[in-house]
Amino acid sequence: MPAISSPVAVVGGGAAGLTSALALARAGFDIALIAPSAPASSGRTVALFDGSARMLRALGLWQRIEPRAAPLERLTLIDDTGSLFAPPPATFAASEIGLDAFGWNIDLGDLQDALDAAVADEPRISRFHCAATGFESGADGARVTLSDGRVIATPLVIAADGGRSRLREAAGIAVREWSYPQTALTLVVRHSRDHRNISTEFHTREGPFTFVPLPGRRSSIVWVMRPDRAEELRAASDEELSALIEKRSHSFLGAIEAEGPRGFVPLRSVSARALTAPSLMLVGEAAHVFPPIGAQGLNLGLRDAATLADILSDARAAGSPLNHERVRRRYEQARRADVGLRAFSVDLLNRTLLSAFLPNDFLRGAGLLALESIGPLRRFVMRAGVAPPGSTPRLMRAEG
Ligand SMILES: Cc1cc2nc3c(=O)[nH]c(=O)nc-3n(C[C@H](O)[C@H](O)[C@H](O)COP(=O)(O)OP(=O)(O)OC[C@H]3O[C@@H](n4cnc5c(N)ncnc54)[C@H](O)[C@@H]3O)c2cc1C
Repeated sequence: MPAISSPVAVVGGGAAGLTSALALARAGFDIALIAPSAPASSGRTVALFDGSARMLRALGLWQRIEPRAAPLERLTLIDDTGSLFAPPPATFAASEIGLDAFGWNIDLGDLQDALDAAVADEPRISRFHCAATGFESGADGARVTLSDGRVIATPLVIAADGGRSRLREAAGIAVREWSYPQTALTLVVRHSRDHRNISTEFHTREGPFTFVPLPGRRSSIVWVMRPDRAEELRAASDEELSALIEKRSHSFLGAIEAEGPRGFVPLRSVSARALTAPSLMLVGEAAHVFPPIGAQGLNLGLRDAATLADILSDARAAGSPLNHERVRRRYEQARRADVGLRAFSVDLLNRTLLSAFLPNDFLRGAGLLALESIGPLRRFVMRAGVAPPGSTPRLMRAEG
């Protein structure tokens, strides 16, 4: 069977892969998207920062997303570790840095549906509902073998095939990988009090326990805890779990009612030692996996996708082959600092919570107090939390 040729192939139909395919298609590239349909909604949500929302607006997806998303206008951090140095709760408002909201929280299944529909309407994307089973690169590009035996020949493959990326492994890119003694319980709850569009994060000795607003009197919860405790909660009834959540959150949202499926995610980090190999570029969790702290994961994945669209458009305008080493180097340089900084900060915060070592408690408490009371530092950290310092990809600069 002759190979099917395509100027660019994207592998993976998660949010990072679909957004990469759309961003590149809108930049005028014809795309072979190798992506079996993703499983139905997990009941998990993602908080998307301002730049990610701008990108989704620029791609024409916002109308579908906005009615299902809740704005995150304020963020409250509460030290609930019982530490001697626990500072008072700190609240940060998006209006302090000139934004209506830090971001928007949406069910991952709703986001996935909106992306799937946009991909189906995009004439430049040919979707192959298959898995990629092989990847080889040579002097004139790459060949991707599909699970139905077909082969795609292309100068450049974008691997968005998730944290256990098969393509990353086939290309010989090594990873640094470690796990934490923690599991995240995820679920959606209803509550009797209004969340007032405030995301609330309790810092506990087992990890963060976070409520993120959804439309109406609903919030998504990410509750990071010891794996043995997560196992106990797997067996709890909805009523038992609701009562526990209400107690653990000091009833700040009133009565709690668990809704929908529960997810249990063991916490781990994966960091690819390189973001590219000949004829291959990594985006999303194929390049970096973090614990779900600070809502960084997909926001970084979308920045990968938007940056890639800029770099490949510039390469085409300059007449450079998309798989040229210079183009790969530009992507590595553009993404390294942002990915490295987020990985470092998430890991550090998580580790200081886990340790009951007094100097750590003191530093964390002093850090939060400084953030609460020093205006310029507050604003710097808020800005850095939602967007990386340095240049913003074009799709994330688009207005309204
Ligand atoms: C509890 C929790 C809360 C989170 N909250 C947030 C948040 O608030 N904000 C945020 O930004 N991020 C958050 N994240 C992170 C975010 O959910 C992930 O970063 C993001 O969903 C990953 O998307 P992805 O497309 O890179 O990977 P995936 O969603 O894993 O997609 C990879 C896709 O590739 C497909 N695939 C795999 N192998 C192949 C193959 N061989 N061929 C073809 N396809 C293949 C898979 O089927 C899958 O569809 C959270 C994560 C967790 C666990």
